Amino acid sequence: MLIDLYTNILYSDPFSLVLVKLILAFSLLYLSMASSFYFFGKLGHQKGWTKPVSTLPLFKHQIRTEITYSFVSIVIFACYGVLTIWLYRQNLLEISFDNNWLILVDLFIFAIWNEVHFFAVHRLMHTKLLLPFHRIHHKSVVVTPFSTFSFHPVESFLMGSVMIIPMLFFPFEIYALILLPIYSLFFNTLGHSNIAFINQKNLISTQHNTHHTKFNFNFGFISHQLEKIFKRNPK
Ligand SMILES: [Zn+2]
Ligand SMILES: [Zn+2]
Repeated sequence: MLIDLYTNILYSDPFSLVLVKLILAFSLLYLSMASSFYFFGKLGHQKGWTKPVSTLPLFKHQIRTEITYSFVSIVIFACYGVLTIWLYRQNLLEISFDNNWLILVDLFIFAIWNEVHFFAVHRLMHTKLLLPFHRIHHKSVVVTPFSTFSFHPVESFLMGSVMIIPMLFFPFEIYALILLPIYSLFFNTLGHSNIAFINQKNLISTQHNTHHTKFNFNFGFISHQLEKIFKRNPK
């Protein structure tokens, strides 16, 4: 069934249908991931496994606002998907169908690239020129799992280029391409979950949360390396 789904998207669906399918797939992924973290957080806090990183109140209608902005972001990400399919049908980029251990290599390459891309775009969003757009994302001082894609469309446009850029130069495995958005969204949602495990400090879940509350450091995705190289972390 998955093979039929991606075969149709790659070769035969009209672009309007590709757009609808990608919007539905990304929406389903975003809502299921965010809801899972939301309810896991609630359960974890109740059972005493976890605690909120910040206990400040949310702003009025925060989750509704975040979902609305996220949906606009999802439409922009889906447009990138349509552009990718168009480039593939024009033979301007390649996809591999070997289905072997190279899937893991591709995931590793993407994880490294994702760190660089996220850090670079995020630092750019904190420049004078782009900060007014980034303030939409920082409206969520206390993050929720629904904050992940809560961007101004300008930021969604820049962030959404993460997959298409390396695909222009490198033939990723098809199953790596299907797994990449799941990998990226999982860690991004974790970073916006407002969940800290008891007795553990500075996990991914708390790093990005601190960026939202303190604003001027912790620009990275998972790794601290780029932060250290560019000396933006006061530690
Ligand atoms: Zn920021
Ligand atoms: Zn954020």
